[in-house]
Amino acid sequence: TRKLVMIPGPTPVVRSIQDQMGRETVAFGDPNFIRDYKELINDMKTLWKTEGEVFVIAGTGTLSMEMGIANTLKAGDNLLIVSHGFFGDRFIELANRKGINVDVIQSEWGEIVPLDEIESKLKEKNYQAVTVTHVDTSTGVAAPVKEIGELVRKFEDTLYIVDGVCATAGEPEYIDEMNIDILITGSQKAFGVTPGLCILWAGPRALKRREKLGTIPEYYVDFNKWLPIMEDPSKYFATPAVNLIWALKESVNIIKEEGIENRYARHIKNARAMQAALESLGFTLLADKDHRAVTLSNVLYMDGVDDVEFRKVLGEEGVVVAGGLAAYAGKMFRLGHMGNIDIHDMVSTIAAIERALYRVGIEAELGKGVGTLMRELLK
Ligand code: PMP
Repeated sequence: TRKLVMIPGPTPVVRSIQDQMGRETVAFGDPNFIRDYKELINDMKTLWKTEGEVFVIAGTGTLSMEMGIANTLKAGDNLLIVSHGFFGDRFIELANRKGINVDVIQSEWGEIVPLDEIESKLKEKNYQAVTVTHVDTSTGVAAPVKEIGELVRKFEDTLYIVDGVCATAGEPEYIDEMNIDILITGSQKAFGVTPGLCILWAGPRALKRREKLGTIPEYYVDFNKWLPIMEDPSKYFATPAVNLIWALKESVNIIKEEGIENRYARHIKNARAMQAALESLGFTLLADKDHRAVTLSNVLYMDGVDDVEFRKVLGEEGVVVAGGLAAYAGKMFRLGHMGNIDIHDMVSTIAAIERALYRVGIEAELGKGVGTLMRELLK
């Protein structure tokens, strides 16, 4: 059986993007490549609506997190971390290692930190930045990024850093309008590109902060090293990931063809259909109903299902999903439904989940989930 990879990243990579990975690699000084890189950078700024800059370099989402912190904060600065789970918490160690003073507000997994808690924390002391994870992949919760942005903007010295690794290109993000100063992401989730790119937008306030910091300890992720290249990709700092940049360019072409607003709407529709289908089969979702992500679902097992066995059987039925993290290991699976997936992927996924449930001895009417999914999608 072919295996559909429905984990929350990497997501299925469509043929036209794979083809870019398979192209003969050219010199990074190749005039056509330089043109492609430049067009990509311009499109990324236009589509995510910012007057600032974008950086597209080899790396992953974690490198992008490091890049965001390294270019805006120095040892001794205060950082407020709003955490909705495992990836929100990742900022704690990252910032601690750089000698940044960290305060953390954590929600229960599956819920959000209330806005008034964030506001009263921001009033307590002068924070140089706040981090928020748009979609925490460990919980399937989407943060109210716009509303938090309105709060943060009231505090002049505080930059707003958003981790969009599991959100960007699926969840709506309008950088300047939402007061986002740094948006962090990677290539392997809602862009539907193979893993390997670190993507980061920096708005005008973040660029100003970088200037104020002078020389920073980090070298590869220093904005100042990359700014000349992002302005003129014929210049060299470190070798660009030629084929990955083409692959991302193809992803952006797909986004432009679809229309980014249509893409956001499609993600909502697909997510609600997948979530309804899962619930009709007797699963419950970890994320509270008002803050559910559209990019993935974090699905709690009903009694009597063993995680390891279920995911093994589901794999045999042709669908790969991810396990739960930390306290939820063994208690749930995580299902990605973002990027360039289509109706075939979704119907196959729900059907395979039904077969797997049947095989592990859970009585459910075969076709119930698929029926729910199709009815929702036909609405
Ligand atoms: N932040 C979030 C929200 C993520 O989901 C992930 C990856 N699952 C990361 C950061 C880290 O990204 P990467 O694995 O590409 O380094």
